[in-house]
Amino acid sequence: MRLLLVEDDAMIGEAIRAGLRRDGFTVDWVHDGQTAEQVLKTESFDLLLLDLGLPRKAGLPVLSDLRARGDALPVIILTARDAVSDRVQGLDAGADDYLVKPFDLDELSARIRALLRRKSGQTAPAIEHLGVILTPAEHTVQRDGQDVALSPKEFALLQLLMERPGTILSRERIEERLYGWGEEVESNAVEVHVHSLRRKLGTDFILTVRGVGYRVRPS
Ligand code: CA
Repeated sequence: MRLLLVEDDAMIGEAIRAGLRRDGFTVDWVHDGQTAEQVLKTESFDLLLLDLGLPRKAGLPVLSDLRARGDALPVIILTARDAVSDRVQGLDAGADDYLVKPFDLDELSARIRALLRRKSGQTAPAIEHLGVILTPAEHTVQRDGQDVALSPKEFALLQLLMERPGTILSRERIEERLYGWGEEVESNAVEVHVHSLRRKLGTDFILTVRGVGYRVRPS
């Protein structure tokens, strides 16, 4: 899952990015509201983490403009402002959730997962498909009751595919979701991960749709 973090405080931003990467998220980070807006218009993310007090353009107008463009991207506001009125303003401007600094990174991770679940229409914390159970919060995968060890990228790819069983995802779209800026992507990276997942989960769990992309086998 690819997140955009908008935070001007270097130490806080660094801590959030490091923590979320450890939890398996792809995190891209910008430091001001104007850059955030440009990036939001040209690239696609699964979720936005938005500070309110930002240089060049504050968080609230960034959020209002995003919603005015009809963009339904899930948004969590992260801010030191704990006044009730700020919280109300943020939610009314279109935020889905709100965390007041300082917050616990585990809580942030959990809220991100909850929002992403809601976005994809899932209600259960684990995704189950054809005997494979993937639990995002625990970063575990089981196949027929046996634990399967996956690398972080393999896990992210499997989650992407299992959240939309039957939907075909192109290699480009998968790469975009799996790799942030500055991450080296080998041209055959997705193929390599798929190959490895097939080795671990069985050859027919992930299907190749020639010339289009990949999907999990429909049930
Ligand atoms: Ca700030």
